[in-house]
Amino acid sequence: MSDRTTTPATLDDHLDATRDARLASLHEFLRIPSISALPEHAADARRAADWLADALGTAGVENVEVTETSGHPVVYGDWLHADGAPTVIVYGHYDVQPVDPLDEWTSPPFEPVVDGDRLLARGAADDKGQIHAHVVAAAALLATRGRFPINVKYVFEGDEESSSVPLEGWLTANQHRLAADAAIISDTGFFDGNIPAITVGLRGLMYAQIDVQLSPVDLHSGSYGGAVNNPAIALAQIIAALKGPDGRIRIPGFYDDVLELTEVERAAMADLPFDEEAYRAAVGVSALVGEAGYTTLERKATRPTLDVNGIWGGFQGEGSKTIIPAKAHAKVSTRLVARQDPHDVFEKLRDFVLEIAPPGVEVSVHLLGTGRPTVTPIDHPITRAAARGLEAAFGRAPVYRREGGSIPVAATFESVLGLPVVLEGFTQPHERAHAPNEWLDLGNYEKAIRAIVATFDEIAALDRTGGDRRSTDG
Ligand SMILES: [Zn+2]
Repeated sequence: MSDRTTTPATLDDHLDATRDARLASLHEFLRIPSISALPEHAADARRAADWLADALGTAGVENVEVTETSGHPVVYGDWLHADGAPTVIVYGHYDVQPVDPLDEWTSPPFEPVVDGDRLLARGAADDKGQIHAHVVAAAALLATRGRFPINVKYVFEGDEESSSVPLEGWLTANQHRLAADAAIISDTGFFDGNIPAITVGLRGLMYAQIDVQLSPVDLHSGSYGGAVNNPAIALAQIIAALKGPDGRIRIPGFYDDVLELTEVERAAMADLPFDEEAYRAAVGVSALVGEAGYTTLERKATRPTLDVNGIWGGFQGEGSKTIIPAKAHAKVSTRLVARQDPHDVFEKLRDFVLEIAPPGVEVSVHLLGTGRPTVTPIDHPITRAAARGLEAAFGRAPVYRREGGSIPVAATFESVLGLPVVLEGFTQPHERAHAPNEWLDLGNYEKAIRAIVATFDEIAALDRTGGDRRSTDG
């Protein structure tokens, strides 16, 4: 059994003594309006990257660079002197979402305000506060111990809120210097009630469009009605065939590669505190509906889905217009779970739609986008080390959660670099990421710094001969 290392007192003393300075520094970082989606903020994104590089360098992290991508820069830095110890990539993003609607903010989004335990600002939770905790942890380690317990490579991007596409190219181009044992992504949050959580699964995505064409132009419904098919009805028939009343998706082979939850995982999910009625009321719907045989928590995070995101065709104006529309369209997407392959799922959808296409219309299906699902084993040594690190700082063991959404970069680290991904994030639930009045719980932020140090110590203490590590450089 390897010895468990705890945060030494000197590190705590250092953190106690530097609290005001780090809050001032965090405010400074949050004041930079690094909105990645808006071209007029491109210079601000670069300013945030430069600020971050400066902070990493000041902390003592080495080889710090602001490096170019097809989008906003990636900030890289490393510390690689822990011979024989594991290497982790730490990932976060310095870009933020746009701020509108601005009039719903109680204070200007880029002028951080402390209100009790809350720090209000765009990016406070997602994700600048979490990156900042990593930088502070690095500075504290180097100031008090003069070293990290493991080897660390920081990768902070500026395009996450607008797709992470430039990062994928950057990771591919920089593969040679990104050898590691795992990636730690700090861009997720805790479970309801502020219970520490490690996200172990993210759903993927397949997004397609179905087009149904009857004729070159709309037809008079009096002259042609009864003699020709109607593309809107044909489209409705196709869509209705995709899913049964039991919530099961009827595309042949759709569930072939779905990794079913184990009994242990189902039991762990059932133990999560989740008030279904409160959830229903918060969503504002009359009933929760989903796939038969699964709970709401399972349905929204661990099961694949199929949804129509938009449907249109024919006359949309006021009053009436007696036509048979020339064409009808629908955007259809599926959320995917491990090990479904989005391209395979697209082919299955396309083949099924073409097979059931009613006569008298031209039906075509094309792919609009994909994202791969990810799943990290709960029993992976680095997941377990992160769990112990969270427990050391937050005083209770984390729960393991799956999220219904996608963090494309998680799949990218998995597929481009072949790394297991541990999603260790620190924000409170309901911190209004992407919404007006985003806030960060300052208690979580302080503990996050300790959790990061404790996680690194726990990773260093892993049995070096453990089988799950992939490669180390050095
Ligand atoms: Zn984020």
